[in-house]
Amino acid sequence: MSAAVNDAVEHFMSGLIKLNPAETEFHQAVREVVQSVMPVVLDKKAYQDAQILERMTEPDRIVIFRVTWDTDEGQIRANRAWRVQFNNSIGPYKGGLRFHPSVNQSILKFLGFEQVFKNSLTGLPMGGAKGGSNFNPKGKSDREVMRFCQSFMIELHRHIGKDTDVPAGDIGVGAREISYLFGQFKRLENVFTGVLTGKGLEFGGSLLRKEATGYGCVYFCENMFKHRGESVAGKKVAVSGSGNVALYAAEKATELGAKVVTLSDSGGFIHDPDGIDLEKLAFVKELKEERRGRIHEYKDRFPSAEFHAGQRPWVVPVDIALPCATQNEISADEAKTLLGNGVQAVCEGANMPTVLEGAHAFIQAGILFGPGKAANAGGVAVSGLEQTQNSTRLSWSRERVDERLQEIMANIHGSCVDHGTNGNGVDYVRGSNVGGFIKVADAMLAHGAV
Ligand code: NDP
Repeated sequence: MSAAVNDAVEHFMSGLIKLNPAETEFHQAVREVVQSVMPVVLDKKAYQDAQILERMTEPDRIVIFRVTWDTDEGQIRANRAWRVQFNNSIGPYKGGLRFHPSVNQSILKFLGFEQVFKNSLTGLPMGGAKGGSNFNPKGKSDREVMRFCQSFMIELHRHIGKDTDVPAGDIGVGAREISYLFGQFKRLENVFTGVLTGKGLEFGGSLLRKEATGYGCVYFCENMFKHRGESVAGKKVAVSGSGNVALYAAEKATELGAKVVTLSDSGGFIHDPDGIDLEKLAFVKELKEERRGRIHEYKDRFPSAEFHAGQRPWVVPVDIALPCATQNEISADEAKTLLGNGVQAVCEGANMPTVLEGAHAFIQAGILFGPGKAANAGGVAVSGLEQTQNSTRLSWSRERVDERLQEIMANIHGSCVDHGTNGNGVDYVRGSNVGGFIKVADAMLAHGAV
């Protein structure tokens, strides 16, 4: 980075931090983007005159509300909830809902901000948003989760709509929660419309939506390898998490001939040196999706595996790391460990799972580093396809959706190559940030002072 670009980045960041104190995750996400796009902004006076960066880092609006619900014992509980509508310059707001005790405004602003660029990269007409609550679905009964979702929607329904804002799932919001949310929206508004994505197949959901983020991440990884004349086949893979993204990333990696050796949850990770093949993965899916069990139970079923309580999988020597759990789950030290063990690719299924210092280390080392906003865009891409199917009242075959998903992931890869190629190969962070930025910035310029 030149001194002029560095000065401009630091000047911009000091203003942003003053305006948004204590929102550390939001600062981190903005810094990563601004470092990439500042040369583009400095090159184009129209972007500076229109204060594009200042406007892009200020959400259109944030709705904050209380969600009051009853426990099974009849006690009243209250949680805080948000919808961050970040930017709708290229389409209606679109982005997931997260239910997790760690949720706060900073995390939802970072996620909403990233979503703007990710959605732009898919080539589909979608703006960026994110929402959720500090509600913890773990340990709650189905009826408690239902009552929470219904109460959440009593406020949210005023702010969403198929042409306004279309939420989806994220951590802690899967098929069960989306179904309860959809049922309540339909009751309140008396319309049956594609207002949420990730719906059940019986009521407007798309085939392959559940698999899309994990599959898309592996397709992106395969594109990165192909660009170097290689493939994921035969590679050893560490996956973190054992939720929606992790399970289907592991499935697609295995289908493409790689050997997945780890999965995790917040209790620790399992290491199966023999590989977690499709049969073993079927056990984990049943454990996680049906019984809502813990990953350590894998060892009871497959005793040759090891369980490492309270640890993350990055100590295991692998060729490919697929972080698919949560933000900042690869520290700077863990990035060094992965590099020391000869990792060839890190492809982010989760949003911002690598700390900035770790990401810089991967780029400097010249390994393949696929940032989340490119690598995990498959989920929102198929959500976009679900919206298309809802609008036309048609359901596409699994093959047709998969074909479109592969095409979109290849196009995102192409955009990263176009905007990120330098003397050392492709800088996918710069490529995805600049590729996502230009379309939104130009739309904002065209709209004038709004
Ligand atoms: P799930 O709730 O289905 O799964 C999350 C997984 O990550 C669980 O195994 C969970 O373990 C683990 N996890 C969550 N928080 C932590 C933590 N603090 N420390 C260790 N492990 C943790 O969520 P998803 O799979 O949907 O989402 C995973 C990531 O992918 C998130 O970053 C999300 O934003 C991103 N993403 C998701 C998309 C989607 O379509 N679902 C689309 C694009 C990105 P435990 O059960 O113990 O909490």
